[in-house]
This record gives sequence, C-alpha cells and structure tokens, in this order.
Amino acid sequence: VDEQCIRTDTLTEAEKIHTPLIATSEKNCLGLPDMTNESAEAIVAAFIRGDITGALILDPEKVGEVASRVAMLVHPKRKKHGSIPTKHQIAEMAKKCTLCMQCRRACPNDLPVAQAVKLAASGNFSGLDELYDDCLGCGRCESACKQKLPVHTLIVAAAEKQTRDETYCLRTGRGAIQDIEIRKVGGPIVLGEIPGVVAFVGCANFPKGSREVAEMVAEFAKRRYIVCTSGCAAMSAGMYRNDEGKTVYEQFSGAFEAGGVVNVGSCVSNAHIAGAAIKIASIFAKRPLRGNYEEIADYVYNRVGAVGVAWGAMSQKAASIAAGFWRLGIPVIVGPHGTKYRRMLLGRADRDSNWMVHDARTGESVYGGPVPEHLFIAAETKEEAMIMIAKLTMRPNDTSKGRANKLANYIDLHKRHVGGIPADVYRLVRTPADIPLTMKDEVDAHLAEHDWKESAIPDPTLLSRMVHSRKVT
Ligand code: SF4
Ligand code: SF4
Repeated sequence: VDEQCIRTDTLTEAEKIHTPLIATSEKNCLGLPDMTNESAEAIVAAFIRGDITGALILDPEKVGEVASRVAMLVHPKRKKHGSIPTKHQIAEMAKKCTLCMQCRRACPNDLPVAQAVKLAASGNFSGLDELYDDCLGCGRCESACKQKLPVHTLIVAAAEKQTRDETYCLRTGRGAIQDIEIRKVGGPIVLGEIPGVVAFVGCANFPKGSREVAEMVAEFAKRRYIVCTSGCAAMSAGMYRNDEGKTVYEQFSGAFEAGGVVNVGSCVSNAHIAGAAIKIASIFAKRPLRGNYEEIADYVYNRVGAVGVAWGAMSQKAASIAAGFWRLGIPVIVGPHGTKYRRMLLGRADRDSNWMVHDARTGESVYGGPVPEHLFIAAETKEEAMIMIAKLTMRPNDTSKGRANKLANYIDLHKRHVGGIPADVYRLVRTPADIPLTMKDEVDAHLAEHDWKESAIPDPTLLSRMVHSRKVT
C-alpha cells in the first residue's frame, strides 16, 4: 500500500473482501507484524492458513514473490465471496433506511444519499447509480449511518454496469521536462506567445466529480496553453471521453509545447513542474541555480505565466505542494473544499501602492500590477476557476502581444461563463497594443468608461540588487 495518501482503515476494508494486505513502507506499517525476516514460504503459508490477514514486508523482492504467490492461492477462495451485493440485497438493506439524513449531512459534497437509498428500497436504483460519478468514495456516509448501512458499497453496487464497463486511458507519467523542451518554449512563454502553463495537480476531493478536471484540461489545451497533470488529477483527466470517444491524452500531444497535455507522473512529480519554471529562469536569464531561490522566484513571479490548479485539494500534502509553488511565484487555485485550509493569499488590485516594482532598467519604482493578482485562492465553480486561471497567467513583464493573447482568453472565458467583459480589464491593459484586436471596440469602450491611462511596461524585479543601473535608492 501507498505511503503518501494513507487510509487508516485499509486493513478493515481489505478483511471485509478477504484480500490479504501487504504493507511495504516503514512510513505506513498499518500496525501489521513485521515479517521481513521470515522466509517467503512461511509468509505465504501464514496467509493461506488464515493466521494473518496482513503483513509488513520491507524487502521489495520478497514483496513481489509473496504477493504473486498469495494472489494465485487465494483466488479460488475469494471467488466464492462476492463483495458487491446483488440488486435484491441492495433493496433489502435499503429498507432499513429511516431517512434520518445523517449520511447527507456527513457527505462533503452534500449528495442526496438518503433519498437515493430510500428509492433503492422500492427497487429503483437510478438514484444511487447517479451518485457514482460525483461520489468521492470517502465513506463518511457509512460512518454516519446509525442503521450501519454500507452506503458507499450500495452506490458502487448500483453502478455495477458502469464500473464493469469503464476503461480509462492515461498517458504514462513522463518525469522531468527536458532542457531541450524548455529551450523550444521558454522564449514563447516569457514573451507571452504561449499564453501560459497550467498544471492540474493534487487530490480527487472534487466538488462535482472528476469530469470537471478533464473539461478544464481540454479547454486550456485547445486554447494552446501548455497543460501539465500529475497524481490523482492526471488520472481524473483520463477518465472522460469526448464525443469521439477520446480522452484528453488521446486528443492532445504529450510534449511540453503549446496545446500539449503532459502527465509528469505521481503527486510528488509536481517537483518537475516547478523544475520547468526554474529551468526557464536558469536557461533564459542565466540565473544561477545554487543557493539562489530568491532571484529565481523573482524571475518566475514577474515573467513566467504559470498557474497551478489543485481542484480537489484536501490533504496537508496538497497544501504544502501549493505552498512550494506560491513561494516560487506561481499562483495556485484550489476547488471549493480548499477553503477548509483557512488560508488564502489574496491581492488587493485597488491598492496601487501594493503593486510597485523596481524597473531593472532605470532603478525607478514603477507600477507593475495587479498581476498575478492572487497567489492562493479558492474558486467555487469550474467556470470561476477557468476565468481565474486565464487571469493569473498574466505577469508584469508580458509583452504587448503576450498580454493581448492572455486578455483575449480571459475576456472570452468571462463572456462565455459569466457574460460581458470582466470589470477589471482596464487595470490589465497597459498600452493600446495590449488590447486584443478582435475585441478592440468593446475594450476601447470599457477603457473610456474607466478613465484609463496608458502606462509603461516595466522590466520588473522585486529585488533592488537586480537593477542594472546604480540609481536605486
Ligand atoms: S462516500 Fe460518496 S456519498 Fe458517501 S459521504 Fe463520501 S462522497 Fe458522499
Ligand atoms: S444515514 Fe443511513 S438510515 Fe439515515 S438516511 Fe442515510 S442511509 Fe438512511
């Protein structure tokens, strides 16, 4: 079992379905007896006799041998015990439901569980079936049920056809972004021709199922952003197919390029996404890598239009990954459950004094804002998140072409999902060349309404020592 996202009831759940359990890491021993020094024969025999239901084995080769041998030997026995209840059994169990609503109250997504269970008692399983996509599988409803109904099992059983037929397509985690790829796209990213890099990362604590992640990935890949995925978000992105039956991994290339969807690997591979941003600073600005976090973060914050999205973030690990990104100058957007972290890093676009930067060319203190407006923010809906992603890819150093490209995406997403152009466009246009050509008339009218004045595009830095001239005070 895994050592990162740990369920403490793994052994209990495994015992329920007669599955032998092997823990393989000293970080997640599950209280199992340490059998590392026993022979493989002895461990297999103990499992088959039923002396043990789980074991800790810290030798990976022994794990492989024991797991494969035990799997083959327990198969005939396990076949006799079906773990999924039949439709008749579901209906019988559901009759015990008192409609007390405790399950719905415990459900993090407020799913209508009680009504679905009650419906199942009359032989109609459509309610439970419909819950399957939006259910996180957390099991809180089962713990809350006073009638001890296995509510989550009922949901899975009702959706049996769906679960039996479902197949996914996931691009293999590919690891680090290579220097040669960075050399190809670093210029277009810094110049703004590629509107940004969006990384969908983190846990699967989604408000409305995994479909939303797949939809967001497709939307930004179509808009020619570079899209990275990792961990549970990467898996979720591969769980949905478009009208042609293709997942995002089949629709878009796997290269780190405009319109590519790059699965970097597991959750801990997020370091490769941060690594790509760091490589841009190293390759294009020659910022030394060793002992130089501050200058690299300064570069990324001011020039690299990257945004992280942890749509189902829930764990401490996801929070610390987000912190690792925002301290590098990469804003992070979390889903509605992210508000439970009780910490946001929100900017005040209305306070110009908060957005002053050094102009590295002159040493003067100049206005560089309000971009990126926030460093850590929760969005309530997928639509809100997509608009925010487009906005947070903007950087003080965007070229006019780049800012126009980013504004075009921001305004277009806002028009589609909210209606009209966003109220803060006048804050984001610095010069007339920043205005997207196809939206010129409406943006001009908006700017006129807000008494907009042209401002210079700085060569921004937050570090006075990075100023080229010595005029800095
Ligand atoms: S297992 Fe599903 S239905 Fe039950 S509380 Fe969790 S999300 Fe809600
Ligand atoms: S908690 Fe149990 S008994 Fe109460 S409504 Fe939910 S399923 Fe029915």
